Amino acid sequence: MTIHRIRLLGDPILRTRCEPITKPKSTAVRVILDDMRETLRDWQSRFGSGRAIAAPQIGAPVRMIYVEMEKPWPLINPEIVDIGTEDFTVWDDCFSFPNLLVQVSRAYRIRIRYQDVRGEWHEEDLEGDRAELLQHELDHLDGVLAVDRPHGLDPFCLREEWNRLHDAGDRYGEPEARSASYATPLTGLME
Ligand SMILES: [Zn+2]
Repeated sequence: MTIHRIRLLGDPILRTRCEPITKPKSTAVRVILDDMRETLRDWQSRFGSGRAIAAPQIGAPVRMIYVEMEKPWPLINPEIVDIGTEDFTVWDDCFSFPNLLVQVSRAYRIRIRYQDVRGEWHEEDLEGDRAELLQHELDHLDGVLAVDRPHGLDPFCLREEWNRLHDAGDRYGEPEARSASYATPLTGLME
């Protein structure tokens, strides 16, 4: 197992659209997941934070996420299959730009599907912090970063400044119905 250097904002691999995994049970998949786990745990032990990591962050442009919240949770070929009707704001952060927070808007509830390490498909409903975490990690698999999704006035804040101005409870806004303009298809607007 190898602890990898986390790829940082500006590294082109973070902008890659990652390839699907065709053999979830392969040795290559196991090695990458082991390395993701070790790299995540190394970060947690050094900085006391970090809930998940996406494969491109260790230089592997494939569709895998490793989450460690209540339990270790590797996800292969994850995708969102349904989203709820409410959004909430999140001050988001990322290993790939550790000193910057970005306010983004995320769906409050999502349903995802993914394969486990045996190749079995699962579906799971997520809300709140788990929902926004998975949306952040899924964005990584499409080369999208929180800096691409700034929301509201003054959405960028250096961590040092954020810590001075906020407490941890400010991280999440209240869930609110998605705005009509966002939900209305373009064809509706042109009528
Ligand atoms: Zn990230």
